[in-house]
Amino acid sequence: MPLLEVRDLTVSFDTPDGVVHAVNGISFDLDPGETLGLVGESGSGKTQTALAVMGLLAENGRATGSVKFRGQELLGMSLAELTRVRGSKVSMIFQDPVSSLNPYMSIGDQLVEVLTHHRNLKRREARERAQEMLRLVRISDPEQRMRQYPHELSGGMCQRVMIAMGLLCQPDLLIADEPTTALDVTVQSQINSLMGELSEKSSTAILLITHDLGVVAGLCSRVLVMYAGQEMELADVDTLFARPRHPYTEGLLQSVPRLDQARSGILNAIPGNPPNLLDIPVGCPFSERCRYAWEKCLERPDLETVGEGHQKRCHLDNLPAAEKVAG
Ligand code: SF4
Repeated sequence: MPLLEVRDLTVSFDTPDGVVHAVNGISFDLDPGETLGLVGESGSGKTQTALAVMGLLAENGRATGSVKFRGQELLGMSLAELTRVRGSKVSMIFQDPVSSLNPYMSIGDQLVEVLTHHRNLKRREARERAQEMLRLVRISDPEQRMRQYPHELSGGMCQRVMIAMGLLCQPDLLIADEPTTALDVTVQSQINSLMGELSEKSSTAILLITHDLGVVAGLCSRVLVMYAGQEMELADVDTLFARPRHPYTEGLLQSVPRLDQARSGILNAIPGNPPNLLDIPVGCPFSERCRYAWEKCLERPDLETVGEGHQKRCHLDNLPAAEKVAG
């Protein structure tokens, strides 16, 4: 049985301008110890998918479909039951560390509280474990940091504290939303290795939300590419990078800077903007930005299996550019 089973998940928000359709019928599984990357531009529905899994949608949001964790349905669960699951078995690392930490509690008290609450540790043992975790996320002088408050630390340091907090209980599932974006590249790579080690050692599954395909290549085993709240492509990392089957994936890959490319200074960014989620086009949501679009794209493409564990939502059989390279 998969650790996490998401089926036909939709997330929408009532706003003064109408209903915003942020996630539109997404399905995926995550096995114990597996790392799945959720990739796409801002507004593609990655974060709202994660918040729906955690039961943390904003008040004007609602989710339909099914989200099962170890076979147990999370959508519609009472707050008390959800709180038991969150924190001990499922942790989330948010994008914005400063507003996620409690400004009135010292770093040490916040970390210790997680362990005394979810792991029933005595305070002394919890303090030792918390210090050890701060050391693991490369925070110098953890004893001193434990006494400090969030406003006394830099943004990057707060982000590492959040990561330590997410890993403290060795959760079964860690949802990490752009966890290292604010950090410098050296620390980014250390934290990514740490998450990779954790996943291997304690079979923690990771749902990694990122726009950075470099991070995906280093850490994930599979990738789900999202656009306008829908799956565009799902494949294992090697297949997706070597032979993408969706024009949006191809565009994302071509917009990544590469060391072996000439330094022209120009990246092949995907032209245009994602659609308005108040009014998503009836056919393929990517059609206005797709260089291969033709009449058929006025119809919505179904998600189709094109190989083992490889799915795409596009009317094209193959990408013409990839065929040219292959042929
Ligand atoms: Fe492009 Fe058409 Fe495929 Fe959409 S369905 S990605 S518009 S070719």
